Amino acid sequence: MFSRHQVDSSAEPSLQPWLFQVEPYPDESFGHFLGRFRRANHLSSAHLSAMLKQRPYAVSYWESPSRRRQPEPSALQHLSQLSGVEAARFSLMRSPPGITLHWPTRLCACCYAEAPYHRLVWQVAAQSRCEVHHQRLLEACPRCKSVFRLPSHWQRGACDRCHLPFQEMGAY
Ligand SMILES: [Zn+2]
Ligand SMILES: [Zn+2]
Repeated sequence: MFSRHQVDSSAEPSLQPWLFQVEPYPDESFGHFLGRFRRANHLSSAHLSAMLKQRPYAVSYWESPSRRRQPEPSALQHLSQLSGVEAARFSLMRSPPGITLHWPTRLCACCYAEAPYHRLVWQVAAQSRCEVHHQRLLEACPRCKSVFRLPSHWQRGACDRCHLPFQEMGAY
């Protein structure tokens, strides 16, 4: 009896060691991080929503930078337990309240060539140039003009239609 009580650890905060953890990059957008975390664990957005006890579309809404829907603090706490990333870190990946975000997804090809991930600052509507490279942020592929997918789907780092790699788009 006593030993059974001892091994019962349900009262402790449980980490989920069977999930692969991914380290956030500096200034990485929340959607891009969620996409990497889901792919590392072969989770659809609906599946991750269910694990977080959210409605099926919750995670896909969070991955869309222009959407106003933001996760509740309790949901971020839960995501923190699943991902091993501190909940406070998630607020750095999301835009502060009152900041208007740009639609569609934007990209600085030079930044991407240095480190391949989507930065939160690229979606700040008031900023149309990269602060580091002073280049105009791209809103579509410069070769075929098709718009970029949501950052959560940036698995290959290339245009979906003509396959031009993001890091080569700066040359256009
Ligand atoms: Zn840049
Ligand atoms: Zn293209």
